[in-house]
Formats: sequence, C-alpha cells, structure tokens
Amino acid sequence: MTWTRRRFGGFAGASLAAALGTRAARGQSKARVIVIGGGVGGATVAKYLAASAAEIDLTLIEPKQRYTTCFFSNLYLAGVRSFESLTHNYRTLAQAYGINVVHDAVASIDPVAKTVKLVRGGRLSYDRAVVAPGIAFKFDDIEGYDEAATQSMPHAWNAGPQTELLQRQLKGMDDGGVFVIVAPPNPFRCPPGPYERAALVAYYFKQFKPRAKILILDAKDTFFEQDLFEDGWNRHYPGMIEWLPVQFTGGVKSVDSKARTITTAGETFKASVANIIPAQIAGELAQRAGLTDQSGWCPIDPVTFESKLQPGIHVVGDATSAGDMPKSAFVANSQAKACAFAIAAALTGAEQIPPHLFNTCFTLLAPNDAVSDAINLKPVAGSIKITDIFFSQIGESDETRRQTAREADDWYAAFTHDVFG
Ligand SMILES: Cc1cc2nc3c(=O)[nH]c(=O)nc-3n(C[C@H](O)[C@H](O)[C@H](O)COP(=O)(O)OP(=O)(O)OC[C@H]3O[C@@H](n4cnc5c(N)ncnc54)[C@H](O)[C@@H]3O)c2cc1C
Repeated sequence: MTWTRRRFGGFAGASLAAALGTRAARGQSKARVIVIGGGVGGATVAKYLAASAAEIDLTLIEPKQRYTTCFFSNLYLAGVRSFESLTHNYRTLAQAYGINVVHDAVASIDPVAKTVKLVRGGRLSYDRAVVAPGIAFKFDDIEGYDEAATQSMPHAWNAGPQTELLQRQLKGMDDGGVFVIVAPPNPFRCPPGPYERAALVAYYFKQFKPRAKILILDAKDTFFEQDLFEDGWNRHYPGMIEWLPVQFTGGVKSVDSKARTITTAGETFKASVANIIPAQIAGELAQRAGLTDQSGWCPIDPVTFESKLQPGIHVVGDATSAGDMPKSAFVANSQAKACAFAIAAALTGAEQIPPHLFNTCFTLLAPNDAVSDAINLKPVAGSIKITDIFFSQIGESDETRRQTAREADDWYAAFTHDVFG
C-alpha cells in the first residue's frame, strides 16, 4: 500500500484529535511526544511520527545503545547468521530523522501530571506518550526458575547476551547430549519461535553433534503450524526432535539450575543444555504504569492504539492485548504505523479512516526450507479481527521452499531498514 498524505491522516480517533489539535489551534509550541522502548514497536512509531507532517518535539527513550533482533536469532543459534548481522543502532533515527534519542530507562509514568521519570534521574513532560516495552517473564510460574537461573538455563527470548549464552552452551555441548526446550503457554512472543528454534538447532546438531537429541516440554497440547513443523522435523532431522505435550507430562513444575534438571508432574529430565522459555506478560513498565488488565497485557483502542485504561498513553507491540493479532515484530511494526498515523493525523487535522493491519511471518525449518503465513486484520467492534489468512502447505516443492527462504532474507533487510532507517 502507498501512503498518501490523505491516507496517512486517516487513523485518528476524534478524542485524540481534540486533545492534540487544540494545542496547535491555540498556537502553542510543538506537541511533545515521548516514545518509551526502542524495539520494533517504539522505533517504528518514532520514525513514522518524525517523517509525518506534524510538528512534534519527539523523544525516544531506550536503555540500550544497540538493539538485537529476536527475529532471525534462531539462525544465529544454527551458525548461519552472525550476531553482528542481528544488531542495529539508533544513529539514523537520531541524525536523519531528528529524533531526540535518550539512552536511559523509564522508571515510572505519572499519567495525571503527564511526566515520565528516568532511572538515572530527571523528569520529562509529554502531551502524548507511547509505551512499547515488549514482554516480561512470569518467573514465579516454574519453581526454581528466577532471574539468577537464566544465567545457567537461558530463555534467550529477549535477544542479546541471553542468545549468546545459549549459543555458547550449544557449542560446548557433548555429541550425544540432550537439549531441552521448555515451551511457554499462550499467549507468548512469536508463536512459531520455540519450534523454529528446535529445527534450526537440529540443523546445527546434524552437522556437528549428530548423536544429540532435542526434547521439547510444552505447556500446550498443540502449537502453531504444528503439521508444517512435524513434517519439516521428520524430513530434515528424523528421530532427533521429540515433542511432549502438557497432557502427557502434566507440565513443568520446577527446575534445578545447578543440576540442570527439569521436573514435570511425573518425571525429572536431565538436560545437557536447557532453554527455559517462561510464561509471559507485558513488559514491567506497562504493569507499573497501570496499563495492564487482569490478563497481564494492555488493552488498547484498535484504531489509535490508545490505552483503554490510561488516556493519553498509547501502547504498541508485544505488550498489547490486540484481538487476533499475534505477538510478532511484523505486528508491532504494523500497529506502530497505525498509532503514529493516528497521533500525526490528530495534530494535522487529517481525515480519519480505520487502519488495515497485517502480519507476515517467515519460519525456517532449515536454512533452505522456509514456510510463511500471512494475515490481514481490521478493527471490528472494539477489537481486531482476521479478515484473510494464508499458510504454506505440506508437500510444496523444494524450489518453492528455497524461494520462501530467499524472501525471508529479503524481508529481514527491508524490515529492519523500515524500523531503524
Ligand atoms: C526466537 C524468536 C524469533 C522471532 N522471530 C520472529 C519473526 O521471524 N518474525 C516476527 O515478526 N517476529 C519474530 N519474533 C517476535 C519479535 O521479536 C517481537 O514480537 C518484537 O520484538 C516485539 O517488538 P516490541 O517493540 O513489542 O518489543 P521489543 O522488540 O522487545 O522492544 C522493547 C524495547 O523496550 C525497551 N524497554 C523495556 N522497558 C523499558 C523502560 N522501562 N524504559 C525504556 N525502554 C524500555 C527494551 O530495552 C526493548 O528495546 C521472534 C521472537 C523470538 C524470541
């Protein structure tokens, strides 16, 4: 879709327009927008607001100097991509888009005074805030799995040092060892992620540790694209990957991070390397700021992505509870554009139309064998519903799968350019 100025302006809600438009009408200084979290969601909102016609004093707050993508991090574990190739900085957003990038974390938000407090000290005022903090882990769900335990049993579900640690452990593992993945309950970041991880680590094992095994202990009885995964695992890595659903194990109850054991309702498994991916909720700041409901996620207006709980604060990305939208980078980017358009349209007084939202996900079964799924979505009755859906099929030709893998590579390059410039 091509974004014309007219379409660009199409996403604002009336209350948002009133709140922001009056400022411009009164001839006051630029509206102050603070975007918190420089991951996919936050960086995209900041970039698209900066590129809009609206007069905005724009600040992006993100603690890290460099952002490592979770997407394609399983290829790093497979030894196919370098860590460097997953890493992006904020130079273009600051220099080419004029965004005031502050490398700090937000400690708290005062929605009444409309200020944010920084961890290193100081407060900033806003007219609109956008919160995109990603996910937090429910550490208390599995006994013995706390922050300290992540240093011996990494989750590697936020990319960075955790991903590097898991890769080092896999490299150091003996041939004949067992790699255990504990897969989380729904909803969680990247529904195909744990199963793609199994496939790509199996690809690595097949070359360097052919007697190794992978055991997936799942908190669910089925998983996303299960037929495509099971077909891919059997074709590429026969006998290497075993998946145990919760109805079989009774679920993971506890871990001993020193002994590297994982105990389910009926059995204890000894892992050579353990990748524990815990249950998830919205990032901690969203919880502290009163943006989450009892589900642990943030309810939002499906047109403007303004919080249903805290007026004046928008939420995008994995932290949202957004109807049928899965928690993916593609979705975070799609939501972020809709949110940026809504805020910018309110400032420029442009026409309002509801957003079209999208997700496309590429999943690798092996470096030359990829499948994809694509969905279109739109706001319906206060929520977001799927309107069209596409899935790759079992039995596609090798050439089709190779072509999809090439498209995945192209997508990564174009997508990260769209987010970080
Ligand atoms: C193994 C794996 C594979 C994946 N593969 C894909 C894929 O192929 N395709 C796809 O579309 N998606 C994929 N994903 C999902 C994707 O990575 C996430 O959906 C996406 O990163 C969500 O973006 P976000 O902006 O919500 O959160 P994040 O990208 O996590 O960004 C959140 C940011 O907020 C910052 N932050 C947190 N708290 C604060 C605070 N208090 N103050 C300031 N900043 C703060 C953090 O430092 C972080 O940079 C994958 C995920 C995993 C784990």
